[in-house]
Amino acid sequence: MTTTSATEAAEAAPVAPTTPAEAALPPAGSALDTAHAQLAAAVDILGYDDGLHTMLRMPRREMHVAVPLRRDDGTTEVLHGFRVQHNVSLGPGKGGLRYHPKVEIDEVRALAMWMTWKCGVVNLPYGGAKGGVAIDPRGYSTGELERVTRRYTSEIMPMIGPDNDIMAPDMGTDAQTMAWVMDTYSVAKGYTIPAVVTGKPLAVGGSLGRGTATSAGLVHVTAAALADSGVPLEGTTVAIQGFGKVGGHAAQIFAERGAKVVAVSDQYGGIRNAAGLDVPRLMVHLRDTGSVVGFDGADPITNAELLALDVDVLAPAAIEGVLDEHTAGRVRARWVVEGANGPTTEAGDTLLAKNGVIVVPDVLANAGGVVVSYFEWVQANQTYWWTEQEIAEKLEYRMHQAYRGVAELARREGLSLRDAAITIGVQKVAEAHQIRGLYP
Ligand code: GLU
Repeated sequence: MTTTSATEAAEAAPVAPTTPAEAALPPAGSALDTAHAQLAAAVDILGYDDGLHTMLRMPRREMHVAVPLRRDDGTTEVLHGFRVQHNVSLGPGKGGLRYHPKVEIDEVRALAMWMTWKCGVVNLPYGGAKGGVAIDPRGYSTGELERVTRRYTSEIMPMIGPDNDIMAPDMGTDAQTMAWVMDTYSVAKGYTIPAVVTGKPLAVGGSLGRGTATSAGLVHVTAAALADSGVPLEGTTVAIQGFGKVGGHAAQIFAERGAKVVAVSDQYGGIRNAAGLDVPRLMVHLRDTGSVVGFDGADPITNAELLALDVDVLAPAAIEGVLDEHTAGRVRARWVVEGANGPTTEAGDTLLAKNGVIVVPDVLANAGGVVVSYFEWVQANQTYWWTEQEIAEKLEYRMHQAYRGVAELARREGLSLRDAAITIGVQKVAEAHQIRGLYP
């Protein structure tokens, strides 16, 4: 029998998957595939080696938990829950909690990675994290959602805390969900800890302006991007896919700032009025019926038609992967401003670039939410709360700074805004890795 040294054996052995995160390549066009491709492009631009690339790609920590739920009818159901901390080199993990039937580990990994770059782009002292439960919240009572939230929080308790991982609302969750997380965590610790979550109700330490922050930030960067081409926001035509926390408020703010919102949609369908929708009246219709569909001041339109409208600005503000190899080629907007996380796949990005569409990427365009989450956390840590005006001004300043940084790098190096934004986020994290050194 011949013996080989450890080094030889390591060299000879095929590269084994070291964690489940690396075990299989994500399917083409999936959120994680998109996130990996974006990181690879940035690593290429920065000239990093494979080791650093792998460190930047792999999540630091993740938990997959069973969430048993006692339903109102007395039966028991077991849901799947996840929390992923993609990176914590610059500070605590930060990112939302998503309730959606399609939540799975790879999607959460992608969303956590985007949070890392997003926090880097807007210069927050945070890493990136994300959580999710595979559940359709529309099919559950408030009491059931409270029990799911409390049990999930209790299961992932070892990972979260005001200094190591801070949750916020995402798709399917809201301020009430955050209040339940905060209460469950605080009861376990024995005292009230508001800084463990952001996006919570004002009455328990939330921040003014958090509810509309993502949308306000999106409109700030849209205005900045238009201004770079000498186009004023006033009179600009806008189509918005998704009418939830991001799209709904964005429609209102766009309209308030004089843009013409000509089409919007939600999961039930879309509506269009070429003369501009009466957004305040639409909000009343939404409140009364639960959907934008059926609004009397507009004609019906499908989601696919909305994406292909001849408008100045298209804001996908719903879910991942809607602009792909089939849909992106039909986009006629001059700007795509990503309110959702990951709405454009790698193939979609290539098509948009080929057709000269300017994409303002998610990690910049929707970063207003996490910026005001940061303000909320700072206020909770100081136990001193700021005025709405202070928050609005600080948000606008940060969004403009972030936009300028991204746009200048893009111009200087001939990059897309996406490549520039991801490169800025990646470089911040890599620099922290290098300065801190590799332990041990
Ligand atoms: N869920 C939001 C996002 O994707 C906000 C995250 C946060 O505030 O932590 O950016």
